[in-house]
Amino acid sequence: MTTRGLNRRKFLGRIAQSALATVVVGRASRQIAASASIPASIKPTSVVVIGAGLSGLYSALLLEAKGISVTVLEARDRVGGRIYTLDDLPGKPEAGAQSFSETYQRLLTLAEKLKVPVKPLQPLDRALLLHINGQSVLTPDWSTSSANQLAESERSIVPPRLLTHYLRPNNPLEDTTAWTSPTHFDLDIPLDDYMLAQGASPEALRLMNVYPFSMNSLETASALWAFKNDQRAQTPSKTIMHVKGGNSRLPEQMAASLNSVVQTKKVVTAIRSQETGVEVYCSDGSTFQADYLVCTLPFSVLRQVEIDPPLEGAQAEAVQELPYTIITQVHVSVTNPFWEEDGYPIRMWTDSVLELVFPHKDASGKVQSLTCWANGASAKKLDAMSEQELGQFVNAELKRIRPATEGNVEIARVVSWGSDPYAQGAYAHFAPGQIRGFQDKMAKPWNRIHFAGEHTAIASPGIESALESAERVAGEILTRVV
Ligand SMILES: Cc1cc2nc3c(=O)[nH]c(=O)nc-3n(C[C@H](O)[C@H](O)[C@H](O)COP(=O)(O)OP(=O)(O)OC[C@H]3O[C@@H](n4cnc5c(N)ncnc54)[C@H](O)[C@@H]3O)c2cc1C
Repeated sequence: MTTRGLNRRKFLGRIAQSALATVVVGRASRQIAASASIPASIKPTSVVVIGAGLSGLYSALLLEAKGISVTVLEARDRVGGRIYTLDDLPGKPEAGAQSFSETYQRLLTLAEKLKVPVKPLQPLDRALLLHINGQSVLTPDWSTSSANQLAESERSIVPPRLLTHYLRPNNPLEDTTAWTSPTHFDLDIPLDDYMLAQGASPEALRLMNVYPFSMNSLETASALWAFKNDQRAQTPSKTIMHVKGGNSRLPEQMAASLNSVVQTKKVVTAIRSQETGVEVYCSDGSTFQADYLVCTLPFSVLRQVEIDPPLEGAQAEAVQELPYTIITQVHVSVTNPFWEEDGYPIRMWTDSVLELVFPHKDASGKVQSLTCWANGASAKKLDAMSEQELGQFVNAELKRIRPATEGNVEIARVVSWGSDPYAQGAYAHFAPGQIRGFQDKMAKPWNRIHFAGEHTAIASPGIESALESAERVAGEILTRVV
């Protein structure tokens, strides 16, 4: 081994040590702390990691740092998974994870150690144009607008704030892990039932179904999950950041820092966990053997993978049933600054299928492109269209909600996370009754298979949750191989 290799191992060892130590010291969660011990020496061990998203890459780095031989298998021809910078579009918009903040301590530490620079994002424009019930309304005019069909007690609340308006005053969750406590399972009910009980009007329910946090709809999501999101939002981020040059640069650097090369275009179709080891089968006929396996596939994808022996009970149910939020984005390039024509803010919140419209700006504040962001039922509607139908529909819809866009914008790319075969959705959430039903069983090791991925984390959001899960899973395997 080269001196450089030794240095890197030592350095990654420090990441592993400090990361796992942070878990032990900093996290109260029983589930995490129990699996986070750091063994001093280990038996020669091999691990196959399925998925080169953040959770897979970070698991691989942590395990390699302890001398474990790791093979990472990835279905796509790129690493990063749900981190995906559209490098060929103006301004390099993010199709996956958009941003993070100073609360993402694991991510910031990792980026610093790997010398991946992060920087503050241009803040989102504060000014917002609403387009509701066929009318364009500036937020200061909302309470008196004839487009406002909310109940009297709700009229002063701008629609993007309605969910928070109903959740915040009654949120019983004291910290980021409290949502997993049986004390709160009485709230594991349909979110729309909760809202109705609070007196939300039918129009408020309709508007709350536009981009309802990270869920598909109020009807299909657990109120307890919504309270969890609200609890987290109560500590506003001070600095919104991204990776310089695009968020994909982080997973790329993580992959480059591994001893082993990530094997791309390896679509895993079956996993066998035997007494002495695991065997992994890919669609191209290749097979891989190892002592243990880390599976980071979203459950939306894992449900199509054969597992032998099959998962059982609540864990099997979780893999089959856990819902994923459907998101479809239409990335639009701007040929002329249409906002100068109509004088309205660029950023829009609408009850149309396009739901949210927001700009990407470069460091000088110049608009590079727009993203139209559809969620849940709206995304499903777009996903059902052919490419040609979608183009016509989006152009007509933009013209309807924002006439000044006509002739001034062009569709550059459509990204559908719901129809992406290796994601089948943007992120996991819980349906009513599922937190009580299987949350604590989802990530339990099954023979020699260990589960990581954002859906298995407890305390952290988004990208940070993928890293949280990697720390847990590395801890689980390390304790087996001492
Ligand atoms: C639109 C969108 C916006 C987001 N915005 C934010 C944000 O602003 N901030 C934030 O913190 N988080 C955000 N997130 C969430 C964040 O991107 C994810 O939580 C995180 O990237 C998930 O990492 P992961 O490793 O758990 O999963 P993934 O990144 O999905 O990794 C799983 C990997 O498995 C691979 N795979 C799938 N099937 C197979 C197979 N059969 N065989 C082999 N490999 C396979 C996939 O290709 C993928 O690379 C966003 C996500 C999306 C989609």
